[in-house]
Amino acid sequence: MKRIRQIYLSTSFLLVMVVSLVVTVFLAVTGERIAAKHAPLVAAAMEVKLHATLGHLWFEEIIAGDSHEDIEVVWRHLRQADWYALAMLEGGSNAKGIYQPLDDPVMRTEIVAVRGALHDFESIARARHANAGVSFPGSDIDQIFDQLFNNFLDNADRVQTLLLALVKRDLSHFRYMSWLLIGLMTAVLLVVGYLILRLERQQTTHLSTIEIVNQQIREKNTELDYLAHFDSLTKLPNRTLFVDRLARALTHAKRKSAHVVLLFLDLDRFKSVNDRLGHAIGDEVLTHAASRLKRCLRSDDSIARLGGDEFTIILSDIDSHEQAINAAKSVARSVTEEMSAPYGLDKQMVTVTASIGIAVYPEDGLTGDELLINADHAMYDAKAHDRGGFRFHSAELNRRVTRQLTMESDLYEAIDEDQLVVYYQPQWDLQKDTLSGVEALVRWQHPVKGKLMPNVFIPVAESSGIVERIDAWVLRTACRQVQKWRSEGLKPGRLAVNISAPLFSHGDLFKIVSDAIFEHQMHDGELELELTESALLQDVDHAQKLMQRLRRHGVNLAIDDFGTGYSSMAYLRDFPITTLKIDRSFIMNAPDDKAAGAILHSMVELATHTDKVIVAEGIETKQQEQLVRSLGCEFAQGFLLGKPMDAGQMQALLIAQTEKNVRYLPYSSD
Ligand code: C2E
Ligand code: MG
Ligand code: MG
Repeated sequence: MKRIRQIYLSTSFLLVMVVSLVVTVFLAVTGERIAAKHAPLVAAAMEVKLHATLGHLWFEEIIAGDSHEDIEVVWRHLRQADWYALAMLEGGSNAKGIYQPLDDPVMRTEIVAVRGALHDFESIARARHANAGVSFPGSDIDQIFDQLFNNFLDNADRVQTLLLALVKRDLSHFRYMSWLLIGLMTAVLLVVGYLILRLERQQTTHLSTIEIVNQQIREKNTELDYLAHFDSLTKLPNRTLFVDRLARALTHAKRKSAHVVLLFLDLDRFKSVNDRLGHAIGDEVLTHAASRLKRCLRSDDSIARLGGDEFTIILSDIDSHEQAINAAKSVARSVTEEMSAPYGLDKQMVTVTASIGIAVYPEDGLTGDELLINADHAMYDAKAHDRGGFRFHSAELNRRVTRQLTMESDLYEAIDEDQLVVYYQPQWDLQKDTLSGVEALVRWQHPVKGKLMPNVFIPVAESSGIVERIDAWVLRTACRQVQKWRSEGLKPGRLAVNISAPLFSHGDLFKIVSDAIFEHQMHDGELELELTESALLQDVDHAQKLMQRLRRHGVNLAIDDFGTGYSSMAYLRDFPITTLKIDRSFIMNAPDDKAAGAILHSMVELATHTDKVIVAEGIETKQQEQLVRSLGCEFAQGFLLGKPMDAGQMQALLIAQTEKNVRYLPYSSD
């Protein structure tokens, strides 16, 4: 823009300069021309008079006999006078100058008259010269002669006057022209200046207009883009954008060997809402449903309205099939829950549930179309079997998920209906050969399926969130039990309780623990929480703070299944851990496998050097017990030393222990 303005300015300046130059040259040439034309003519008029007067004077002298000059001098002067007069009419040149013919007709007539008078005068002069005797001064002829010369002089004077007037006129004309041109030039200057200003202003206006137009075009394009990719009612992406996003998610997943979940959602009996309450209410339901759906998603999940009452949700970048299933379940569950709440519309409550079909990439389809069709089929399946619920595409998966779902709802009842039982597995002090503590392990006495082990239901409880309640219940129950044993004079030693990752990471663990300690008067170091490596590393900062608070409350902290997390050992330094529970897998092979033995050995070393207590898990054989003892492990736990048992059996063991100092346990439970 600046560059264009510069070009305008320099062009205009150049233009003004050229105009000034032209005007100056024009004035100079015109002035020169006037001067060149008129000055010789004025001189010529003088010459005419001068020569004629000289001719007349010489003639008078010669006629009067006062001069010896030849009469030729007279004729020469008269001829000279005539020559100048003729030069004024037809132009001519001599040593004195160049004479241009006069154009003015009046002047020309006057000059012709001057010449006529000159000729007349010359004729009379010649006649008088020829008759010199009769033409004495004062004679008639002399008087006519003088008269003629006077006529000539009059004519010549008039010519001179007219010529001067002409010169004056031409000069004033020239002056007028000059002023005019200067005026014009000034006007041109002003106009050019004005034009520059206007151009600049126009240009600025023009540029801002272009900018405004561009902005409008951009806005229009954005609007068109929005209309092409978004649904105007719910403001959600439409089918076109959905197809595009799904394709991108699949390409990305293919590259990273990741999983993608597609949820196909259809509102139940939406048609009847439209029919009964009208389309306006129908639209409102769709808008509210869209907002509810958005609430159920994470920021990087993608939701779209395919049309009508159909919506889709894409969950992308998921590492494993298992995680994909869990994510799908969790979203589907929260969506169905959200959707089941009634809408308060037009002074009435309307409930519109949603049925969801789920397909997972790559298991249920490799392309977007395949996934969409399969998710759609699954959705119809859901509508047919479980309106307001969700179904997976694969039948096997559906069975699994249904089993899990059933288990989940059963678990809720289990807590309320006292179906959970705490078992206790003894921990042994290898140096003193006494019972050092017990680990609380939960069992589920299912009314139909019988006793269920934690590995069957704890993962389900973890994915549904109910595990926090289970852990809290186990903790309270076990503390109450220990308090009871203590009150009966028994010595159960340290109580170890398993804490799940969800409770540790975002549950109210500290409050649950401190309440239990307070309520059951647990002593310092009497309670030990068993944490997993992965739980600690989810949010290191939170973990450190929580663990420090717990330690200050006299709680011991153990890492359960130590060595299986493949994580950095640095956390041994960063977290206030008191105990390492070496996982069973390291004990199992250690006596025969040299490598396993070496790992076990270095684990014990590590614990010793970092001031941690070691508990060796899963001791099943004498050989294993011997090995861990020789390595310097202080504590051990395993079927050889005592299987998990119910509270009654544990109590019997504790009694036997105090009375007889029993080494191996006669009881076997699990
Ligand atoms: P864990 O905390 O590592 O508990 C030890 C598991 O190893 C127990 O299995 C126990 O029965 C088993 N075990 C002990 N000694 C031996 C042995 O010599 N040989 C063999 N083969 N197994 C032995 P259990 O009770 O089935 O518990 C499995 C896991 O479930 C526990 O592993 C723990 O992670 C979890 N769990 C148990 N109770 C709870 C609970 O109340 N809350 C939470 N969050 N998790 C629990
Ligand atoms: Mg444990
Ligand atoms: Mg363990």
